[in-house]
Amino acid sequence: MSKIKHAIMATTLSLSAMAASADANPTFNYNVDRFADIEVLRYKVPGFEELTPNQRLLVYYLTEAAIAGRDILWDQNSRYGLELRQLLEYIYTHFDGDRSSADFKAFEQYLKQVWFGNGVYHHYSMDKFTPGFSRDFFVGELAKVPVAHQGKNTADIIRLIFDPQFLPKKVNQADGVDLIVTSAGNLYGPGVTQQEVEDYYNSLKDTTDTTPISYGLNTRVVKENGKIVEQTYRLGGLYSDAIARIIDNLTKALPYAENDTQREVIQKLISYYKSGDLKEFDDYSIAWVSDLASQVDFINGFIESYDDPLGMTGNWESIVNFKNIPASHRTEVISDNAQWFEDHSPVDPRFRKDKVRGVSAKVITAAILAGDSYPATPIGINLPNANWIRAAHGSKSVTIENITEAYDAASHGDGFNEEFVPDAATRELMDKYLFITDNLHTDLHECLGHGSGRLLPGVDPDALKAHGSTLEEARADLFALYYLADPKLVELGLLDSPEAYKAEYYKYMLNGLMTQLMRIEPGKDIEEAHMRNRKLIAEWALRAGAPQNVVELKKHDGKTYVVINDYEALRGLFGQLLAEIQRIKSEGDYEAGRQLVEEYAVKVDPTLHQEVLDRYSHLSIAPYKGFVNPVYTLVTDAEGQPVDVTISYTEDYPSQMLRYSRDYSPLTAKKCCKKSSHHGCSKAQ
Ligand code: ZN
Repeated sequence: MSKIKHAIMATTLSLSAMAASADANPTFNYNVDRFADIEVLRYKVPGFEELTPNQRLLVYYLTEAAIAGRDILWDQNSRYGLELRQLLEYIYTHFDGDRSSADFKAFEQYLKQVWFGNGVYHHYSMDKFTPGFSRDFFVGELAKVPVAHQGKNTADIIRLIFDPQFLPKKVNQADGVDLIVTSAGNLYGPGVTQQEVEDYYNSLKDTTDTTPISYGLNTRVVKENGKIVEQTYRLGGLYSDAIARIIDNLTKALPYAENDTQREVIQKLISYYKSGDLKEFDDYSIAWVSDLASQVDFINGFIESYDDPLGMTGNWESIVNFKNIPASHRTEVISDNAQWFEDHSPVDPRFRKDKVRGVSAKVITAAILAGDSYPATPIGINLPNANWIRAAHGSKSVTIENITEAYDAASHGDGFNEEFVPDAATRELMDKYLFITDNLHTDLHECLGHGSGRLLPGVDPDALKAHGSTLEEARADLFALYYLADPKLVELGLLDSPEAYKAEYYKYMLNGLMTQLMRIEPGKDIEEAHMRNRKLIAEWALRAGAPQNVVELKKHDGKTYVVINDYEALRGLFGQLLAEIQRIKSEGDYEAGRQLVEEYAVKVDPTLHQEVLDRYSHLSIAPYKGFVNPVYTLVTDAEGQPVDVTISYTEDYPSQMLRYSRDYSPLTAKKCCKKSSHHGCSKAQ
């Protein structure tokens, strides 16, 4: 629920760059690398120079604390992850054969994929990568790696790379099998079964506790002498060396905290990392959510649990950011008017909230992406995750605008619009308004959509079961779509034209009906909740509006195009579906929800699907995108005291990955080697 995986939205569609973002720095090179199904981009950090030197130093130490946790995620993803990375990087940097040979090229691509996935599994599909180089090539290169640079699991690693049956999927969510036994991730130790873990937590949980800790959030569950025990991620516990380095940098950040509240946030986080006590994590989260005054902000910890098949353990991640003050005006206006939006929504008044709790929402500029948010990153985040903290203390919702800007700018001129948007007038509308309406859509979805509406008394919040997240995302999207077209947005000064919303409407229908299918393999259904939600909305509107010909799929020269004939009527349909989905949620009408999802959201027309794949194959657009970080350099005075920080954007993708592995790898054994200057060489672990 919390980390909004909107990145899909931004990556499946080419958003034409706003003239301003492209022209501001004509030499800025957004495109960094391209391999397999991935494009690596670079993002700008506008406004960094306008921060005070103290704020820049605060950002610096927080970014150091962010990169310091990288190894944790690698180990969470696979128990062989760190050892594998060391081997691959050693071969890559010491290879003395023909670097243009097919085997080496394939090896290089594989390493780039592994870097991107923070391990051998695709970050989105969770499937294991398939090597394009031969086993003989790899074994031959492995033989040249000095024994001192090899770990204990070389035989298993060869199997991991070349045997598709061995640990094939990071997270398995298929029905009817033991999800822990069949998932390859390292959040559970060998031999632990799903039943044992469920029994274990059930025995701990007190169902009358109204402020429960997030059980299992920071632990690995293993079996010791036949007993289930938790190994805690903390100083002195699991991942201690990485956590020590995080603590060290958080401590260095303390003197530069912007105010006492923020200082307390950092202190509470340090204290939690020392104890591993999840009560302390809740204290920290409450302090964090109430820090609204600081411009610089960050998350750092075990946060999202998508990669745990039982949804308990958090993947390590960090994002350091600062508020984009001018753009945040937008989200503040939306938040300030939350009650107006709630009162005027098209849903039955019985299902509306009498009093909407203001959501603190801001537009931010990311300064570093790390752990589970690197290289692939979300574009919107809403935290904390603990429901009782959200209810009692609220949550922070952000839109990461320098990331959306980079997606937008990088896609400029990629041929997408020419291929899929047939008429010049619609293309022009998208050029002009898609950037702002896309951002507003995210704002409305996050600030208002998820928080709107209420359940009737006695309705179980989990009544919609497996369809709950698809319907919840649909509800938030529909709320945003409905209001994007409302004259209120022009009145509030958020849009300067009553036509602007049409850009987002067109994009949404095109994506939901057609272009998002490029992520689905032929013959497969749509599974992911956000993709289902978009298909549900677009397909429902297409069919419900058919009698009035509101939207149609038109054929021209053998190609299918989305044509919207009546935008106002389309808005009416969005309102109608919003009312129905809110009713389903408020009443807990599982059967109606199931029917909507099954009827509109899951099945793919195979002919149209193939057409989309064919048309995409002629464009060189990667289905997935991610980022390299900028490089921050400390400026010191004559006494060696830090006085300021500079930023640069020149590092390429392999250089960044190799530098992080060399300089920020507390969990791997360091061995001195002539070719690189390891920090901490003398401190072999
Ligand atoms: Zn959402």
